[in-house]
Amino acid sequence: MNGYQGVVALIDLASRSVERIELDESIVRKYIGGSGLGTYYLMKYSRVDTEPLSPDNPLIYMTGPYMGSGVPTSGRHHIIFRSPLTGIFGESDAGGTFGYRLKRAGFDGLIIVGRAEEPVYISVIDGEISFSDARHLWGLDTYTTEARIVEEIGKKVTVSCIGPAGENLVPLAGIFHDGMVARTAGRGGLGAVMGSKNLKAIAVGGSRPVNIYRQEELLSSIREKTKQLKEAGMGLHLYGTAGGMETAEKFGDIPIKNWKLGSWTPQVKNVSGQKMAETILEKNYSCFACPIGCGRIVKFNGYHGGGPEYETVAMLGSACLVDDLEVIAKANELCNRYGLDTISVGGAIAFALELFEEGIITEKETGRKLVWGEEETLIALIKEIAHKKGFGATLGLGVKKAAEMIGRGAEKYAIHAKGMELPAHDPRCFKGLAVGYATSNRGACHLSSFTYPWERSASMPELGYATTHDRTLDREKGELTAKFQNLMSMAD
Ligand code: SF4
Repeated sequence: MNGYQGVVALIDLASRSVERIELDESIVRKYIGGSGLGTYYLMKYSRVDTEPLSPDNPLIYMTGPYMGSGVPTSGRHHIIFRSPLTGIFGESDAGGTFGYRLKRAGFDGLIIVGRAEEPVYISVIDGEISFSDARHLWGLDTYTTEARIVEEIGKKVTVSCIGPAGENLVPLAGIFHDGMVARTAGRGGLGAVMGSKNLKAIAVGGSRPVNIYRQEELLSSIREKTKQLKEAGMGLHLYGTAGGMETAEKFGDIPIKNWKLGSWTPQVKNVSGQKMAETILEKNYSCFACPIGCGRIVKFNGYHGGGPEYETVAMLGSACLVDDLEVIAKANELCNRYGLDTISVGGAIAFALELFEEGIITEKETGRKLVWGEEETLIALIKEIAHKKGFGATLGLGVKKAAEMIGRGAEKYAIHAKGMELPAHDPRCFKGLAVGYATSNRGACHLSSFTYPWERSASMPELGYATTHDRTLDREKGELTAKFQNLMSMAD
């Protein structure tokens, strides 16, 4: 089968057994791409009442037919699961090199079920799958875990792993890839699913070729598109996704003070991707087969680590009124190392700050004053969430459940859809987002319909939008959302 290795591995952690499942071409054609195929297997290997943190919840890594082909920006894989944050379908995707190396290891996907008795990590290398003791890695952060496993295996591998937050079963925990050049599958608490299986990491690598249909023609098309994409993506290359902060603020798109305010004009300049490029940016990096390279590495005052992207700058920055890029970078780094989703963590902290301001919670619950824009507040709450300590144990449940526990009207300040904190795009600014958040399978997701660029400045005559769709319209957003959800599901 072109574009696929034709095999996924069903891995049972309890019995340490592996079953090779041959892909059925009719299924592959019906459920196109990593998201579709992964969802097919989630339906097959879970029940409607499967508990998210039970051994029965499958954790499914899946790639699509472009993975390994060299098609620009196709180096993304999906992870599918039942979400401990929302209780419903969960999916999250990540770039980097993991999907590519999984395919070169000889597999299109992994379906991981059961729970290991002791912490383990899995190696998937050139068609062979093995289990290794991970007790010595339990408790380590994601960067250190990656470095140790790469050293232990001694071959070119990519590591997907959790940090302490996933081990502690925090529903805001993600799964991290590629060490310090971090690429994150962040949303929906999948890190806690991995932690519940006593699975610390998966390392993948190999050199199995992938069959590509009419490869020469594809390569010539890739060369042409790579050039175009490089030019079109120059802004992302230079400034990263955070380069969009100032424009987003002008439109009223960014969350400010837990979604309460509509303008942050002087401050946004301090935290933009342009400011990052002028001050703390060391270099950029790319996912596999991407000529754009939106990833950031930053360096300042003895600090050296991943640079925050748009969602992180907005959720840990403007949503919490933090206008210091170095503070946001440190908070981002902490989330990356602990293995936390910066979107949900930022949303949860902004929620706590507003509750404190409103007097709904006090120092009695939080153990400290919670202060808008303050580094100490931000860092302390991230640590508490990761370790399920103090008020962080409540916040780490996500804003919906935390509000239910707190009561006293806290629900009014909990900004979420289906239990998932909103990403950093305001549905009052682009109304298509409201329909997208309400109808997305996983809860508040800006990517499942991705309508807002077409409500801001883009057009797509092929879908019937020869001009930009009026962002303020209340009508026609259902049709717009449905069309773009279908389009995006093809890309996934
Ligand atoms: S480097 Fe950025 S633009 Fe390129 S595939 Fe990765 S996330 Fe997408």
